Amino acid sequence: MKKAIDIIKKYNKFLIVSHKYPDGDSIGSQIALALGLLKIGKKAYIYNEDPPTDRYSRFKRINLIHTDKKDFDEEVIFSLDSAELNRIGFIKDEIDFTKPIINIDHHISNKNFGDINIVKPYYSSTAEIIYELLNRLTELDEEIATYLYIGILTDTGSFRYPNTTSHSLRVASKLVNYGVVASQISEFIWFTDPPARIKLLGDVLQNITLHDKFSIMYVTKNMLKNHGAKEEDTNEFVDYGLTIKNVKATAMIKEREGGILKVSLRSRNDVSVQELASEYGGGGHKTAAGFTYKGDLRVLKKELEKKLERIVN
Ligand code: 5GP
Ligand code: MN
Repeated sequence: MKKAIDIIKKYNKFLIVSHKYPDGDSIGSQIALALGLLKIGKKAYIYNEDPPTDRYSRFKRINLIHTDKKDFDEEVIFSLDSAELNRIGFIKDEIDFTKPIINIDHHISNKNFGDINIVKPYYSSTAEIIYELLNRLTELDEEIATYLYIGILTDTGSFRYPNTTSHSLRVASKLVNYGVVASQISEFIWFTDPPARIKLLGDVLQNITLHDKFSIMYVTKNMLKNHGAKEEDTNEFVDYGLTIKNVKATAMIKEREGGILKVSLRSRNDVSVQELASEYGGGGHKTAAGFTYKGDLRVLKKELEKKLERIVN
């Protein structure tokens, strides 16, 4: 942490990157860090492969997130919430990694690829780490607190997942003290679903396969098309697979263009799905992990059913 503070004080232009398909923790952490850097008179530029999903459209400062780099001439690179550099996607090719890299993350699988690595797997979210960093740099305010809160709220599944600790609740409480209205942030994020999402959810829940201790669901391109829905409309559907009594693990397979399948895995605290994701070249956390796979949906589903059967028993 001290080394990161020294670098921030020494340089002026900071590029802030995160993984593709950025989630609430990426977006919230990146914006909060950018706002903190701007506040102390530095220049900051957020660059992601993909734009924020519609869920975040009611937060004004998402305008700080760019999907093009133009001519920002960074001196230092912050990588947030990404276990390895490949996770940031093709934007990797446009970044000069001979510049100092500060890698801030909470994935246990983090490869420590930075010149400075602040990796805290026991933290709920990257936002929780950025909170500590910013506290050492400047006075927080309501706006910064809002974006940090978004990161913690979304990565803890609204304070329901096993990563919800007394520390994450304490940080959230401090953020509320800065004027964050917790219920309003929840409303902005969770009560804005397009009707197509709910109709699609009906279809997806229809096809759930229930086993003794695990469940599995899928969504095809055709199902999306039938409802005029986008892939992002299926985010968090996987959680339903785990709400069932006695179910310890669940998988959700999403069909993408070009024969690519994206798999989300979730488990109860006594089962780990992280190793399963790693087997397929993915990663994540003990109870929330994922990977992408090229191949046939039915074949992968069968394969996953065998592997899930093994890990829940
Ligand atoms: P989700 O299922 O919501 O996409 O991802 C759950 C968790 O797994 C996240 O913490 C994310 O970082 C991780 N994850 C998802 N997909 C991948 C992947 O393709 N590679 C790696 N390394 N991690 C992933
Ligand atoms: Mn995260």
